Amino acid sequence: MIPLEEALRIVLERCPRLPSDEVSLYQAPGAVLAEEIRSDRDYPPFTRSAMDGFAVRASDTENPPRTLSVVEEIRAGQTPERSVGAGEASSIMTGAPLPEGADAVIPVEQTEPQGDRSVVLQAQVQPGQHICLQGEDMIEGAVAIEEGTRIRPEEIAVLAALGRDRPKIYRKPSVAILSTGDELVDASAEPASGQIRNSNGYALWAQSRSMGVPAHLLGIAPDRPEVIEEKIREALQDDLVLISGGVSMGEYDLVGQVLTSLGLEPGFERVAIKPGKPTIFGTIGGKPVFGLPGNPVSGFVIFHILVRPAIEKMMGIRRPAWDEREAVLEEGNLKPTKRWQFLPAILRREGKGYRVRRVPWKGSGDIFGPSRGNCLVQVPIDSPPLGPGDAVRVIPLQESL
Ligand code: AMP
Ligand code: MG
Repeated sequence: MIPLEEALRIVLERCPRLPSDEVSLYQAPGAVLAEEIRSDRDYPPFTRSAMDGFAVRASDTENPPRTLSVVEEIRAGQTPERSVGAGEASSIMTGAPLPEGADAVIPVEQTEPQGDRSVVLQAQVQPGQHICLQGEDMIEGAVAIEEGTRIRPEEIAVLAALGRDRPKIYRKPSVAILSTGDELVDASAEPASGQIRNSNGYALWAQSRSMGVPAHLLGIAPDRPEVIEEKIREALQDDLVLISGGVSMGEYDLVGQVLTSLGLEPGFERVAIKPGKPTIFGTIGGKPVFGLPGNPVSGFVIFHILVRPAIEKMMGIRRPAWDEREAVLEEGNLKPTKRWQFLPAILRREGKGYRVRRVPWKGSGDIFGPSRGNCLVQVPIDSPPLGPGDAVRVIPLQESL
C-alpha cells in the first residue's frame, strides 16, 4: 500500500500530455491552448467613438450652450471623409472611427440637433472623453493569451476577435470504460437472483463527460480472463482506460493478472485511501490504465482523486490539482485512520466561508450517499481527531460551489 500523495505523483508522472491539434472555435471550449496567442493588430484597431453623439474639438465645448455646424454623419463601419475644424462637429455612432481634428465625443443626450446641418451643445466635454484610443486595450504583437490556458468563453471571445479561428490545443484524452463482474447486467435489464445493475460504467462515463472529454462505454465483461483481455485490447484504442471491478483479493478478481499478461508497466496496486484501496494503476504501451474497485463509491471517489488529475494532465493543464475549500465541520466527529478518508458530505456557503456536514452513508457499496451530498470531506492520515467547529478540507463536486 502506498501513500496517496505518492500515488498521485506516479499518476501525474506517467500520464503523458497529448499532442496538439488545430481545431475550430466550436471544438475549443474547455481545451487547453497549446500556443501563445499574440495580438494581430492594435485593439481597438482605430480610435473610435464610445457613444452615439457628435465628434468635436473639446475646446469648442467650453461655456455651453454652443452651436456647431455638422459636416458629416459617420456610422460604424464607415471611414470619415471630412476632418472636424474649429466650430464644426460630425454626427458619429458608437464604434465609428473618430474623424481627424476631433478629440472628444459629446453624447447625443447632451445636445439638441437642429436638423442635420447644426447642433446645439448643452454640456462641456474634456479632450479624450467618450472615445477609445487605438491600441489602448492591446497593442499589436503583445501576448493576449498564454500557452497552457484553459479556454473559457472569455478566451473564445479573444480568439475570435484576433481572427484565430483555428487555435492549437492539446488533444483531449478519450476514455474507455469497461465494467467487469459475473453479477452485472445493464441498467436497462431486470436483474435475476444474485445480479445487480452496472451503475459504475454509467457513473464513470458521466464523470468523464462532465470534464468535457469523450468517453466510450465498452459494456460488461464477465469474470473470464479471455473476455476481459479482449475487451481491454479494444479499450486500448482510446487514450485512457478505466476498468471497474475485479481488482481486489478474491479468486475471481482477474483484472490484475490480465493487465500483467498485456504488458502492464505497474505504477501501484494498493493506495492508502478510503474508500478505494485496491486501485491498480500502470501503463500499457505508454497508455494509462486504471483498475478501479467495483464498490461504486470507491470508483466514484478514485475518479475524483486520481483519474481527474490524470485527465487534466493529458489535456495539457499545467498543474493538475484538487479543487479544495476549507470549511467548518458542523456536527459529528472524524477520526483519522491509516488511510486518507474522503466522505460524502454537504457543503454550503455561510457568510464569507463554508460549512460542511456529512450525509447518511453506509460505506463504499452504498451509492445513495454521494447523491445526498455535493462534496467530499477529507480526513488525512496525519489529521488530528476533528469535531464540531473544527476546520476541515473539502473537495466540492459541483463547479458552482
Ligand atoms: P469487485 O471489486 O469486483 O470485487 O466488486 C466489489 C463490489 O462492487 C461487489 O459488491 C460488486 O457486485 C460491486 N460492483 C462491481 N462492479 C460493479 C458495477 N459495475 N456497478 C455496480 N456495482 C458493482
Ligand atoms: Mg467482481
